[in-house]
Amino acid sequence: MKLEEHPTVKWFHTAGRSAKALQEPQKLDTEWLRELCLKAGADDVGFVEIDRPSLAMDKQELLEAMPGARTLVSLVFRLNREPIRTVAHSMANLEFGHANKHANDAARRIVTQLQGPGIRALNAPVGFPYEMDRWPGKLWWVCDKRVAEEAGLGRTGWNRLVLHPRFGPFMVLGTMLLNAEMTAYSKPLDYTPCIECKLCIAVCPVGAVKPDGYFDFVSCYTHNYRERLGGFIDWVENIAGSKGVVDYRKRVSERETVSMWQNLSIAPQTRCDRCMAVCPAGEEGIGEFLTDRAGYTQRLLKGPRDRNETVYVVPGSDAEEHVTSHFPHKTAKRVSNGLRPRSIQGFLGGIPIAFQRGRSEGLHASFHFTFTGEEPCEATVVIRDQTIKVHSDHVGTADLRLTADSRTWLGFLAKEKNLLWAIITGKIRVKGPLKLMAAFAKCFPS
Ligand code: SF4
Ligand code: SF4
Repeated sequence: MKLEEHPTVKWFHTAGRSAKALQEPQKLDTEWLRELCLKAGADDVGFVEIDRPSLAMDKQELLEAMPGARTLVSLVFRLNREPIRTVAHSMANLEFGHANKHANDAARRIVTQLQGPGIRALNAPVGFPYEMDRWPGKLWWVCDKRVAEEAGLGRTGWNRLVLHPRFGPFMVLGTMLLNAEMTAYSKPLDYTPCIECKLCIAVCPVGAVKPDGYFDFVSCYTHNYRERLGGFIDWVENIAGSKGVVDYRKRVSERETVSMWQNLSIAPQTRCDRCMAVCPAGEEGIGEFLTDRAGYTQRLLKGPRDRNETVYVVPGSDAEEHVTSHFPHKTAKRVSNGLRPRSIQGFLGGIPIAFQRGRSEGLHASFHFTFTGEEPCEATVVIRDQTIKVHSDHVGTADLRLTADSRTWLGFLAKEKNLLWAIITGKIRVKGPLKLMAAFAKCFPS
């Protein structure tokens, strides 16, 4: 059959259809789309042009996900406060689960409605699923937090959550891509809803939230995401590495095994989120804090702080020291968080995130790395005054020089290759005091 005789093609060429289909999308009325999003179930919405300079780092990937995208629509879905505030994880996780489902359903409804008049729209998942074939790199296509801030829907607080002016941290975020422009775009908030009350610092069991604004991502991730992502890898490796049933039970308690079952069978669960629960930011929650600070603190801070619970930490990490010194009644369980770089770029990019600044106390040194083999490159890592900086070439004078075959180095980090063997065979060469090498390694416990 000739293409033009095909029934679908004939249908398309009937009066008006081809012209309509080929029409460039018009500018969409911002108020019209806002109303549509709110009616579909969002609690707030904002609009950002894809060309905004602050999103330059995301643009290429966004266009890869949806060629022709012109606008990002940031969607807010509020969480009920009390179910998140409770120390009962099952109730908090139920609320997260419902909110994520509601958000994904609403975003899908909006996309369906836009598709009718011929607007291409794409909703990114709220929460999971992620692009797991990118592990251990960046798993998501859209940085919801960055888009939400640009859309004027909140600012990042000390707890590293986006705080909405009304809902505070009690929300989940979604993002949609559109191939149309809007008649008006949103602007970032000109103030932060964070009132710097420091409750998130006081409640965090692993000390991830610091008073100077620093956030220890790895320590939070190791504990809060124990049953997701890298924590799951560690669980599987415990099964694989056990000599038998008794050995497995020594490594993983029965409580942890049934908890993992629940995580797999119901939905991904988190173990903490206390920094969200305790946060009074936002118009809806601040009244309780301002009218009775002592009562608020007693109700929301004391319970989680006093709780006997297991806190997951990497051996030798700042988090382990924090649990032991601040919460001696809690049990610090030493685990692997399953994070290990699989490329040199991943290693260098992950250094500032994995850095345990408490472990670096007293260390002031510059390290020159030279990688050979599959991923040749040079880099400098400077650790000084409990800060870290990574340069993508050799900068200044090195206190220690390390030259390594890239595959061997990654294998060593993953505990698959022996350092002594690598040094004897010349795959890894170190020039400088070995105690500096040990001090460097101490900053990155695994
Ligand atoms: S708990 Fe207090 S300091 Fe922490 S983010 Fe919320 S308002 Fe800011
Ligand atoms: S989720 Fe828990 S571990 Fe992570 S920063 Fe918040 S309070 Fe700390």
